[in-house]
Order: sequence, then structure tokens, then C-alpha cells
Amino acid sequence: MSQAQLMDGTALARRIVEDTAKRAADLKDRTGAAPCLATVLVGEDPASVTYVRMKQNRCRKAGIESRHVALPAATTTAELVGTLRALSEDPTVHGILLQHPVGPHIDERAAFEAIDPRKDVDGVTLSSYSAMSFGLPGFVSCTPGGIMRLLDEYDVDPAGKRAVVVGRSAILGKPVGMLLLGRDATVTYCHSRTKDLSSVVREADIVVAAVGRPRLIRGEDVKPGAVVIDAGYNPGNVGDVDFDTAVTRAGLITPVPGGVGPMTIAVLLEQTVAAAERRPGV
Ligand code: NAP
Repeated sequence: MSQAQLMDGTALARRIVEDTAKRAADLKDRTGAAPCLATVLVGEDPASVTYVRMKQNRCRKAGIESRHVALPAATTTAELVGTLRALSEDPTVHGILLQHPVGPHIDERAAFEAIDPRKDVDGVTLSSYSAMSFGLPGFVSCTPGGIMRLLDEYDVDPAGKRAVVVGRSAILGKPVGMLLLGRDATVTYCHSRTKDLSSVVREADIVVAAVGRPRLIRGEDVKPGAVVIDAGYNPGNVGDVDFDTAVTRAGLITPVPGGVGPMTIAVLLEQTVAAAERRPGV
């Protein structure tokens, strides 16, 4: 039985971070200041605390300064907007990451829009999204950006290919579909109201699973030789694709963990350094 080649996100992410660290050191030599990422966390949700800590640690290792703003769970939209505007105006901060989801009492969109697009290294503002959709310069949402880098690394040219994106969230499914469209794939989005998901997946040359449902994508629905990108991350290190069967049919496949996951932080760090490099006067 044939086995797909694994798309090694850990190795690619390591190379991106090494390159990013060199650029950060160079910038510090030239300007006297390291790139700086501000992380903002509302409340103390344990998973969010862990994610932010992980991002700070990675920043430190790459020579990127991180500044953390911890806000109480009762923070209002106006207070959060005020914090993000102040960071947007602070010349010593180059990238801003608002850890989300924020509490239900906060208008998340209003908060995101308080981030200066030039510092929107997590690609969450409407401005970043439209720039990405129009193929204009700007910061992309990190996981979709990481997925495109993985495709490039393994010489997968989306042009003319049938790409099926399962999931349409604002941070993952929708933008990855737009990026694939920008690279001339024929893109189909699937979501919770899609009828007969299997028959759509069976058509795909490239499948992106971005759902959050363990093993939703059945291996037997993977077209022989297809590229399978599993962005899902479910408890127990399980992806959205039934890996054991899919690996026997796909041409290329991302493992979980070690596929898409490591790429997200790598792209975040890279975009932070790019934001610091692009600021006026550098
Ligand atoms: P999300 O906001 O919950 O969106 C899930 C999407 O899946 C929605 O569009 C939903 O459709 C769709 N969906 C749900 N059930 C479905 C079904 N039975 N059939 C087809 N589509 C279905 O999730 P997300 O934030 O995009 O995250 C998705 C997964 O990626 C999660 O496992 C998450 O942990 C992972 N993730 C990983 C990274 C990383 O760094 N590797 C980053 C972000 C997310 P509707 O729109 O109709 O509700």
C-alpha cells in the first residue's frame, strides 16, 4: 500500500524562525531596538494563557521582545479598544496580538479594528483581510499563511487545481480559501450546512480541513494523490482528517501534530519582524 509523503511543518517552521531570528538581530544592530510584539489577553482562560506564554517564549528565542498586557476578565470593549489604540500609537511596539476569543461581553470586531493594520501581525483587521483578498500587500492570518508556505515548500502549485476548504471561520477557513483563489485554484467551501460532504471532498486535488471535528474527513474520500492539509487540532492530538486511511491515498499530507500547527507561530514571528522592518525610518 502506498504512503503519502508527510509535509513536515516542524522543520519548515524551524527554518522560518531561524531566518526570522537573523532578521531580528540585524534590525537590532541597525536600529538599536529589537522588534517588539505586544500580546493582549483579557481574563485568565487557561488555554489562552498557555497560548500567549508559548508565543512569548518563541518570541524571546527569536530575539523578538514581547510586551504582555494582561487585562481583567471584566474589561469593557471601550477599555480594550483604548489599550489597543495606545499600543497602535506606541512607536516601540511593532506588532500587536489580541488573544482571542475574548469574552462574550466584548465586541471583538471593534477590538480588532483598534489595531493599526501596519501592526496587525495576526491578520485580524478588516483592512488586512481585504488586502489579502485583493492580493495586495498586508499581513495574513497566520494559520492560512502557514498553510500556503507549506504548499510552496512541497512545490504544490494551486493553479488550476480543485481545492476544497472544509470550514469557513474568519481566521482560518475563509482566508485560506481566498489565498488559494488568489493562486488560481478553483475553490469550494464546505461548512456545517454542506450536503454530502464526502462527494465534495472526493473531487478535491487539495483538501484543507479546518473544522475542529476529530477525523471528520474520511480517508476513503481522499482522491488518490491529493494534497491533504489538516489544520484541525482536537483533544488527544487528533486532527480533522482520519490520518491512518488518508495517508494511504494522499500524495502529500500534514501530520497532526507537526504539520500546520508549528507554522502558525512561525508566521506570526516572521510578520512581527516584517512589521518592524517596514516602519518608517528603518
Ligand atoms: P470554528 O471557528 O469553530 O469553525 C469551524 C468551521 O467548521 C465552521 O465554518 C463550521 O461551519 C465548520 N463545520 C462544523 N461542523 C462541520 C461539519 N460537520 N461539516 C463541515 N463543516 C463543519 O473553528 P476554527 O477556529 O476555524 O478552527 C478549526 C480547527 O482548526 C480547530 O480544530 C482548531 O483547533 C484548529 N486551528 C488550528 C490552528 C493552528 O495553529 N494549527 C489555528 C486555528 C485553528 P459553520 O460556519 O456552518 O458553523
